[in-house]
Amino acid sequence: MQTRDLTDSFGRVVKDLRISITDRCNFRCLYCMPAEGMKWVPREEVLTFEEIERITRICVENYDFTGIRLTGGEPTVRAQLPLLVERLAKITSPVTGKTLDIAMTTNGATLASMAFDLKKAGLNRINISCDSLQRDRFAKITRRDQLDKVLTGINAAKEAGFAPIKINVVVMRGVNDDEILDFIEFGRANKVTPRFIEFMPLDADDDWSSDKVVASDEIISTIGSRYAIKSIANNSDPASRYAFADQKGEFGVIPTVTKPFCGSCDRIRLTAEGQLRTCLFSIDEFDLRSAMRSGSTDNDIKAIIERAVGLKWAGHQIGNVNFHRPSRSMSQIGG
Ligand code: SAM
Ligand code: SF4
Repeated sequence: MQTRDLTDSFGRVVKDLRISITDRCNFRCLYCMPAEGMKWVPREEVLTFEEIERITRICVENYDFTGIRLTGGEPTVRAQLPLLVERLAKITSPVTGKTLDIAMTTNGATLASMAFDLKKAGLNRINISCDSLQRDRFAKITRRDQLDKVLTGINAAKEAGFAPIKINVVVMRGVNDDEILDFIEFGRANKVTPRFIEFMPLDADDDWSSDKVVASDEIISTIGSRYAIKSIANNSDPASRYAFADQKGEFGVIPTVTKPFCGSCDRIRLTAEGQLRTCLFSIDEFDLRSAMRSGSTDNDIKAIIERAVGLKWAGHQIGNVNFHRPSRSMSQIGG
């Protein structure tokens, strides 16, 4: 079977599919969800494993996608998750014969019970989110007192053989920006890679403001004031990567707000209820679930994907007067 590049009107080739497999979550992080009153997508509207597998297969067989990331909401709250991973791990590129690089982003709280099963099922890479190493502060940020479970989850992922493990840290001014060096020390001691993410205007509480963003440059200079560091190549990863001169690991920064990487964006996103989005900040969505449930052929689905990608915009406008916040918050899109 012949594949072709899925190219947008700015010449960017789409290669990476981010799949939200649930909008539900066992945490209520203040930069993502409201404390109470979150309205969940009714279960019958959430894509089934068969539907997720079908869209993934169409992307791989027609456009040679090389990677997918499972996210949410919290992906580990979806029942039978290892089964889904096992199914996705069987999809191969008709060109290279290779299987997909399957990654997952998780809050880690229930990872201990399934890390081995996920590894066995074919999950390749894992990012675990943790925004504070202080128990009280962690509880305030996530609105759950479960730092110990997340740390256990990180250990379980190591024991299951995931490497490297990345630790996603959303840095917020006046909330946890005094812990940057603590995370660096944690990363070096535990052989995991911290990735500092700029706070984005995707919080359900609509509390974001630019003064709460800690710029990646500031994060790098804080770390550089303590350690000798050097920039390293980052392939298509949105993170700018840095290594320690003493070779004890690395860290990354994700400068979505202050230095957007839209020009090299190679991803599209699928929400839990099957809406295709070409950007985290998209206003438009393309309804793949209705298409699949009304008997569309693979060619019909391809046409929708190609139309969506053809309309992908040059980049988000955070900080500009034309910026419109998407109506969905992060957990409803899939980060
Ligand atoms: N529940 C999983 C987790 O927390 O890792 C996966 C979904 S979560 C939406 C994916 C990533 O988005 C997490 O690393 C989280 O910290 C990040 N995130 C959520 N809201 C954000 C925001 N407003 N700005 C920046 N990052 C955010
Ligand atoms: Fe849940 Fe992840 Fe959002 Fe936190 S960031 S509320 S863990 S989906």
